[in-house]
Amino acid sequence: MSGIRDVIIVGSGPAGLTAAIYTGRANMVPLVIEGEPSSTGDQPGGQLMLTSDVENYPGFVDGIMGPDLMGTFRAQAARFGAEIVTAKVSRVDLTSRPFSVWTNGDSTGEPTFQGRSLIIATGARALMLGLPAEQQLLGRGLSTCATCDGFFFRERAIGVVGGGDSAIEEALFLTKFAKSVTVIHRRKELRASKIMQDRAFRNPKIEFRWDSMVTEILGNGSVSGVRLRDVTSGEESTLDLGGLFVAIGHAPNTDLFRGQLDMDPNGYITTHDGTRTSVEGVFASGDVQDSVYRQAVTAAGSGCMAAIDAERWLEATAHAAEQAQSQS
Ligand code: NAP
Repeated sequence: MSGIRDVIIVGSGPAGLTAAIYTGRANMVPLVIEGEPSSTGDQPGGQLMLTSDVENYPGFVDGIMGPDLMGTFRAQAARFGAEIVTAKVSRVDLTSRPFSVWTNGDSTGEPTFQGRSLIIATGARALMLGLPAEQQLLGRGLSTCATCDGFFFRERAIGVVGGGDSAIEEALFLTKFAKSVTVIHRRKELRASKIMQDRAFRNPKIEFRWDSMVTEILGNGSVSGVRLRDVTSGEESTLDLGGLFVAIGHAPNTDLFRGQLDMDPNGYITTHDGTRTSVEGVFASGDVQDSVYRQAVTAAGSGCMAAIDAERWLEATAHAAEQAQSQS
């Protein structure tokens, strides 16, 4: 371990890297711990690494590719002195100061890193259906990321599960490769925004299976189809597919902090007075504490807030310590 850092930032999406830019410019020499890619779609750089065109990030009139946007965030953070390390955080201890972080499977002994303050920006991950075949078929015709895997599904019939913006975005993207795309949704109307719905309804390659739940993913070695149940009639049917994308929402990456920080019933870290958590000196920003807006721009904004909150908290703590010393 190389000394106690002023601030450790866990996560390298828009929230974490914006916090790094701001704490870097405040001469706090931030350490950013970015995760490693995982089979469930976790990605250094966060969910934008799994996105194609980002059309709603202000400042890019013609849109920008998600990975390109994160590349600029990263370069900007590095320019201001952020140190970015790739490692999987295995344990954090927020019960004593400085805060301790262990990585890559270690959870005892000397911590890998220690920080006076901590900014949590671990984001959220794609939800799965919870069906038995999911783990075996993930990466074998089953995916949660069209941007990453769409290329492998040329001229195939593809299914997309979900009815929100993610599902429709995936479906639209997949029409670039697929022979056809069937959106499988458990209700009769989409949750996706009107503009996305209009695009999907206009696209001749997209079909819909309404009121339908996937009860089984079929395939021996790779996805060959799904079994569906009509939720109104109870009728079962099968749909032949050459691939399946699950796009049913996200869950916050907060397991590491369970029992140490206050969370809402869905596991999102609760914040107050800006980005403060239930432990003083620990701040949370981005999707890990936001189940409502979940946008890159709001994540970046809250990363900025967390940096300013951490800087002010460190200053106030140092000032209080100086005063206590001068009075003794
Ligand atoms: P979401 O809005 O929560 O939608 C999840 C969809 O999956 C819903 O249609 C839901 O059905 C369905 N679903 C959930 N659990 C299911 C299950 N177990 N089985 C079958 N279906 C299930 O999630 P999201 O689409 O990931 O979007 C999250 C947020 O990010 C939203 O605010 C969205 O606007 C935003 N977003 C924006 C963009 C963009 O602007 N380009 C792209 C992606 C996401 P019900 O409708 O019946 O609940």
